[in-house]
Amino acid sequence: MSRTRIAILGSGPTGLEVSLAAAQAGLDFTVLEMASGPAGNVGSWGHVSLFTPWSMNASARARARLAAAGQSVPDNDDCPTGVELVRDLLQPIAGLADIAPRIRCGTRVLEIARDGLLKSDEIGTAQRSELPFRILIEQAGDERIVFADVVLDCTGTYHNPNALGRRGIRAPGERSVADSIVRHLPDVAADKAGWAGQRVLLVGEGHSGQTAARALSKLCSRHPDTAVA
Ligand SMILES: Cc1cc2nc3c(=O)[nH]c(=O)nc-3n(C[C@H](O)[C@H](O)[C@H](O)COP(=O)(O)OP(=O)(O)OC[C@H]3O[C@@H](n4cnc5c(N)ncnc54)[C@H](O)[C@@H]3O)c2cc1C
Repeated sequence: MSRTRIAILGSGPTGLEVSLAAAQAGLDFTVLEMASGPAGNVGSWGHVSLFTPWSMNASARARARLAAAGQSVPDNDDCPTGVELVRDLLQPIAGLADIAPRIRCGTRVLEIARDGLLKSDEIGTAQRSELPFRILIEQAGDERIVFADVVLDCTGTYHNPNALGRRGIRAPGERSVADSIVRHLPDVAADKAGWAGQRVLLVGEGHSGQTAARALSKLCSRHPDTAVA
């Protein structure tokens, strides 16, 4: 009987933790990651400090595996930045000898289906679960199909941020100003997008909203012609 092929979509903290478990169990897995390196999403907000300390950011499994490879992970109350989390935990996991060869970076998953079935075929029957997954991927502009028996979607939520309307759907008219809306936490301090001197409307009061408010406040003290509501 052929081995069960596991496709792990995404090499963020979740995908890498699953990879550790799969490697430990001796399973046949492949990690499909759209970024050029592991943990692309965390890297993109690398300038931000996490709200969880090192003691909460690494599992016992990850610590044990890295210790066995001669690498230690901080285990204290300091909150790392995203850059530090990638450098001191996620990149080392991705570099382990039994994980590194299984990560395909620069591989974006576009669509997934059951091979041989339309989405309306065999709904709820055993036949659907017996067929392999057919996965459309894109690598360097080329598209092709790969197959897997099990798919673990570890792609996170970063690329599906809430829209501005109530309950996270778009507010009326929001689509028409989509080009003016930044939906991820920008590095305001670096100000590559030219925030200084602009009128900025900040929407949201969660962790990211508060982080953005602090960064914008500093920007306003440096550039008093910047207005933030
Ligand atoms: C600014 C910020 C601060 C945060 N701080 C904390 C914190 O302090 N503590 C905490 O617990 N959580 C924090 N979070 C939440 C944090 O994102 C998650 O805890 C963690 O990153 C989730 O890991 P993940 O692997 O599930 O998803 P992600 O880290 O989002 O990883 C998903 C991976 O999948 C890849 N991917 C996505 N789509 C595709 C595709 N179609 N094909 C192939 N690959 C794909 C991405 O490139 C990425 O590498 C924070 C989030 C943000 C935005």
